[in-house]
Amino acid sequence: MTATERDRPDEVEGEAFSAGRAGSPDETGVTELSALGPPPWRPICMTCGVQFAPRDEALDVCPICADERQYIGWHGQQWTTLDRLRQDPRGSEIHIEEPGLGSLNIVPATAIGQRAYLIETPEGTIIWDCTTYFDDKTLDLIRARGPVLAMAISHPHFYASMSSWAEALDIPVYIHAADREWVMDPSDHLVYWQGETLDLTPGVTLVQLGGHFTGSSALHWANTEDGLGALVAGDTIKTVMDRRYVGFMYSVVNFIPMGPTAVKDIVRRLEPFEFDRIYSLWSGHMVPSDGKAAITRSAARHLEFIQQ
Ligand SMILES: [Zn+2]
Ligand SMILES: [Zn+2]
Repeated sequence: MTATERDRPDEVEGEAFSAGRAGSPDETGVTELSALGPPPWRPICMTCGVQFAPRDEALDVCPICADERQYIGWHGQQWTTLDRLRQDPRGSEIHIEEPGLGSLNIVPATAIGQRAYLIETPEGTIIWDCTTYFDDKTLDLIRARGPVLAMAISHPHFYASMSSWAEALDIPVYIHAADREWVMDPSDHLVYWQGETLDLTPGVTLVQLGGHFTGSSALHWANTEDGLGALVAGDTIKTVMDRRYVGFMYSVVNFIPMGPTAVKDIVRRLEPFEFDRIYSLWSGHMVPSDGKAAITRSAARHLEFIQQ
């Protein structure tokens, strides 16, 4: 497969609704939880898409969006729920990125709009990162591809509705213990892993990279069909427009670069792993080949610039 062929998915499964929703995160939200009906509420922040545990009391602001790495929606804090979102159904599409790797795209997207990935191993499917919206059709589409083993999530911006996903699929969700303070919807399904690496299945390893959040992680997939390996990076490593370099951002949306220690740590922690492609949260935004060298040269360039 050439890099150009990877610009487009080989295959699309599922059905998208092409209704002309603008995708504004504030479009259908409410400013007071009481507007969601009688408590308890299980609110979702309209800007980051993270769901909160059921509660009876008001909530002024989403702590994840109030943090300097995110932002409060321009029209103020707004809330919704999974039930409200499902009243206006989204479409679910699985794009086959390469053999054994699918991406789950919700159309139109909700909040940050990240994709989730499906890494299909002989043992079953691992879902990497999480979308806020899902419904029965989404789950059917995923289950049709084989048994689902687990979900793992790169960092708090993509926690989304992870506990509802875990309940619906009855699977564990792996998140790094260093980011525990950012879990807004605790669940018995959550597994707080520690250390710099965790082997989920043979050939699928979580690597704690830090830098963006302390527990920020990427997923290394060794057993690609061509044997070259791939890194699925969330936004812990930021793919960029020239597709030859990557960026290292403490805040992606507010343009706060990582410092030298964090960047050197990322290079060190990836040193034991070989990979060719680097996938990110957006369709087409990737390093299509020679990904490990892209990390090395990007780190060298980043360090040169921030130390001038
Ligand atoms: Zn938020
Ligand atoms: Zn992020």
